[in-house]
Order: sequence, then C-alpha cells, then structure tokens
Amino acid sequence: MKQPVKVFKFGGASLKDADSVKNVASILERFRQENLIIIVSAMGKTTNALEKVVAAHNDGDTHSARQLLYDIKAMHYHLMDALFDPGDEVYALVNDTFVESEWVLDEPPHGNYDFMYDQIVCVGELVSSRIVAAYLNRRGLPVQWLDARDIVLTDNIYREGWVQWSQTQERYDRKVPAMLEQPGFVLTQGFIGSTTENFTTTLGREGSDYTAAIFSYLSNAESMTIWKDVPGVLTADPRIFENVSKLDRLSYKEAIEMTYYGASVIHPKTIKPLQNKSIPLYVKSFINPDGEGTLIFGDADEAYPPIVTVERNQALMQISTRDFSFVAEHHISRLFNWIADNRLQVNMMQNSAISFSVCVNDTDDKVMRFIKAIDDDFKVILDRGLQLITVRHYTESVIQNLLNGKIVLLEERSKGMAQMVVKDVPVISWKQA
Ligand code: ADP
Ligand code: ASP
Ligand code: MG
Repeated sequence: MKQPVKVFKFGGASLKDADSVKNVASILERFRQENLIIIVSAMGKTTNALEKVVAAHNDGDTHSARQLLYDIKAMHYHLMDALFDPGDEVYALVNDTFVESEWVLDEPPHGNYDFMYDQIVCVGELVSSRIVAAYLNRRGLPVQWLDARDIVLTDNIYREGWVQWSQTQERYDRKVPAMLEQPGFVLTQGFIGSTTENFTTTLGREGSDYTAAIFSYLSNAESMTIWKDVPGVLTADPRIFENVSKLDRLSYKEAIEMTYYGASVIHPKTIKPLQNKSIPLYVKSFINPDGEGTLIFGDADEAYPPIVTVERNQALMQISTRDFSFVAEHHISRLFNWIADNRLQVNMMQNSAISFSVCVNDTDDKVMRFIKAIDDDFKVILDRGLQLITVRHYTESVIQNLLNGKIVLLEERSKGMAQMVVKDVPVISWKQA
C-alpha cells in the first residue's frame, strides 16, 4: 500500500535553466519514497514569450510569429542539450509538441483571440513537463507523465476556464489512482485544461498554483507544497519593498485575502479548494529547501504584523446613468450581471445616489468590452494605470509612509484592513528664471 498523496508544484522560476531543473531533481531525490503528484509550469518566462507569438500571428505577421516561436524552441533545445545525450527520445517528444502550435500558425488568425491564445500558449507547460519528466527518469526517479487536459475539465471561456468539478473528479478517479499505485511519481502540467470538445483552455495567468490545488483536492492530498524563489510568504513583495519579514503561519482566510488583493506569490484561486478539505499548504524555497517556509492552514488567526499588497494595472470606473435615475435602486443588478459576464475582478466599490465607482483589474480588453456593453444606458469616467494598495492589520504610520508621493482616488477602511486606489503625484519640473 502506497503512502498518502502529496502534491508539489514547481513554477517557472524554479525551471528557468538546466541548473534549475537539476536543482528540482535534487529536491525530489529527498522525497523518493513519497507518493507525489508533481505539477510544473512553463520554463522561466516562456508564457510571456508565447503571448508575443499569439499577438504577432493575430496581427497577420506570420513571419515574426514563426521567428518568435523558433526562438522559444531554441531556448528549450539549448536547455535540453545540457541535460540529455544527443539523440535522446525526449527531443522527438518535444519537437512533436511544438508541431501542434506550429499548425495553429499555418492557419489564418482565428476570429476568437482567446481561443487561439490557449491553443498556442499551452505548449509552454506541455514541453516543460516533457523535459522535466524525461530528466527525472534519467536521474533514476521514475515518473509517469500525465496530460492535465485529460483530467481538468473547464467551461469554454478561453483564457479563464472555470473548472467543472464533478466531471473533473470523475475523470481523475478513472485514471489517476491507478497511476499512483505504480512505483514513482506522477507529473503533469499546471495552467491548462480542456473543454468537453477537447479544445485546450487555460485557467488564467499564473494558474499553475491553482492546478496544484485542484489535484490536491481531487486526490485528498495530505499536503501541498509550492516551491518558490522566496523563503515563504512575506509581509510584502520583496521586489517592491525592503525590510520585509517571513510569515511563519497564516490562516486560510488571511491567505485568501492577501492573494485576492495582489500578493502574487500564490494564485488567488489556490486556497479555497484546500480550505474546503483542510489540506495544509506549505510555501517553501527551492533555493533553501531546508528552510521552514510558511504554513497556511486552519482558521485561527495569529497577531499579524502589517501586511502590504500592491496590485498594479487597476482601472477605476465611475459609472452614472444617462437618464439620472438612481443607480442603486434601478440598475445595480444589471451592472453586476455585466461584471460577471465579462469576468472582471472587482477589488473595491462605492456608490452614491447617481453613480457607482468600481475598481477592477485592467486585464486585456475586458474593461473596454464592459464599457461598450453598458454604453447605451451608462456614462463611464475611466481612469487607468492606477495601483490598489491594501494594508491588512494596518497602522497609521505604515499608511502615511505608503501614501508618500501618491494621490488617493478612492479609499476605504474597515477594522483590520485599509485600501487605497492611488496614482503617482505628477512630477512637475520647472526652471528658475
Ligand atoms: P512561480 O515561479 O511559482 O511562478 P512567482 O514568481 O509567481 O512564482 O511567485 C514568486 C514571487 O512572488 C516572488 O519572487 C516575489 O517577488 C513575489 N511576491 C509577491 N508578493 C509576495 C509576498 N507577500 N511574499 C513573497 N513573495 C511575494
Ligand atoms: N505559465 C503560466 C504563466 O506564466 C502559468 C504559471 O506559471 O503559473 O502564467
Ligand atoms: Mg508564477
């Protein structure tokens, strides 16, 4: 009888070059006896590079699209050259995988951009998982490769597929437990799923953490661990702030709030499926795997220090009716329906008698689509390029510090949490006469 399942996730930063792949293998050596499901993302910044391929193809610039894809292939081949002997069968597997996205480039751009995006961008995770699985096998760590699209069923909203949980569980039960009975690890891709018609979907950028949570839920995992380039969850993003410190423990609720408002160390959808089944989540460092990391578990809150998140690319819409009827009384439910249809993430909202202000993530063309959809009935004043600063467990001095050099456009405080939508004070230069 094998041991309970543990789920590990390795993201792009942990797989950015050949040495990183070797490091991942060394970490996994320590868990040789464990029953692991391993989720991997695309290598390094491959997804960003693939997005450029999609954009070029969509612009009708097939030459650039092919060149960009060729560069991505070359990067993967270069990495493989450092890990495998020439002629290893992994080269043919990786080549065949790239061919699928080359076929998309042979066709004229598809009318549905998001559909085309998913059919091309998925190649990042597919080749990464082929390479890592082959390398682990070569290192004497037996691995069975699984196509996540055979398990994760989504609706057909491309680029942001929503998981169809009961069918996904059935597909998992039919296939994966038997694989887990075999010796070695099961390894699959993050970020991707498929529709009932077998078209590839993606779960939203940075969605591999979420895939790990999906597999943890499906397998009733004993624990899930995401391996990151930071010692654990910190009080703020170390790329933006100095003097951050590691949080040893977080409740599920605290982690959900932090990640929803932009702590990008964990994808926001990750925590809920784990909380529903009380599965502990460890955030650990792949640079220092002996470090304790952060444990996310339970409901009990500790006395937390101020925790700061900054969400960039925010759009603030001030929506008012064209006929000056009261927004809240007559229109609010219709506005919410449009918000849901366009899958806008609402971060803050406030209403007065005749206007409704809402701050959302300004991703892709969602905001413009939304404004167009409501244009007949509503006037919108739009402000883009803003930041949403959220401080949980705030102190006045932390807030004053953060607001230095900022103009506050919308602000809300409740017990334990302060949020501000801000923009930078414009720098006015002048010359003394
Ligand atoms: P992955 O390699 O799994 O894709 P990410 O790069 O998405 O990992 O996430 C790790 C990064 O998240 C860190 O390098 C760090 O800059 C950033 N980050 C943002 N907020 C936090 C936080 N509160 N604690 C730790 N890291 C954070
Ligand atoms: N490769 C995908 C992305 O970069 C998913 C992930 O890394 O989590 O968005
Ligand atoms: Mg990531």
